[in-house]
Amino acid sequence: MIEHKSPADIECMYITGQFVGQVLAELADLAAVGVNLLDLEHHARRRIKERGAQSCYWDYAPSFGRGPFRNVVCLSVNDAVLHGLPHRYALRDGDLLTMDMAVMIDGWAADSAYSVVVGTPAEEDLRLIEATEVALEAAIKVTRPGNRLGDISAAIGGVAAEYGYSVNLEFGGHGIGRTMHEELHIPNDGRPGRGWKLRPGLTIAIEPWLAAGTNNIVVDPDGWTIRSADGSRTAHSEHTVAVTEDGPRVLTQRPEKAVPGAKQEASRKGR
Ligand code: MG
Ligand code: MG
Repeated sequence: MIEHKSPADIECMYITGQFVGQVLAELADLAAVGVNLLDLEHHARRRIKERGAQSCYWDYAPSFGRGPFRNVVCLSVNDAVLHGLPHRYALRDGDLLTMDMAVMIDGWAADSAYSVVVGTPAEEDLRLIEATEVALEAAIKVTRPGNRLGDISAAIGGVAAEYGYSVNLEFGGHGIGRTMHEELHIPNDGRPGRGWKLRPGLTIAIEPWLAAGTNNIVVDPDGWTIRSADGSRTAHSEHTVAVTEDGPRVLTQRPEKAVPGAKQEASRKGR
């Protein structure tokens, strides 16, 4: 059953979403050459504990993973794009890092992700990240009453095609609310005008992700980390969005200075 949330429920999800956006921005700030992925994981754990929030990832045990997930963020580096397991790894100059986090506060979930380059960015990596961000923006724009899920999928697929990337249809967006994953799968490409009709109160996570060279994936022996099959770099961008009478409302808005892409450059300019 697909639950449509009341405006008060959406306010609660917004509170969770603001926390997720804030912590992701902190992780992006901390991510620098030489910083270990485990330090980022531990920062997120500390923040979640202080806030009295619950991680949606801890103990998450879907059929595809090998045993329950024992981390609170997914950290995926370079060719890894989804469900990256935080592990002992010191970030190197030019690494493309994707951070993905979902938590619950007072029974309401929010889920968000974005990619940054640590240190010196390669042009093609910035372009890939930009494509996921532009695809997400285009998808959010059409997340309004009267449109259909297919419009969201088509918006993402359209941007990917413009940039010349192919889309994997297996992993995409999803319903979200009282749990991280609710009914509705939102493929990252599709036909406009098709599928579930969007009504006020629908809350979904929209998450375009792309690999530079392929839409095929491989999974690490750990059963979690998903990588591009050709080893090419990947990027991912996700927001939790509510359909309201007035149109889309992004619930996981990032703090202003959190700019995906070349984080070092962006933060230097901002100082
Ligand atoms: Mg996520
Ligand atoms: Mg998600």
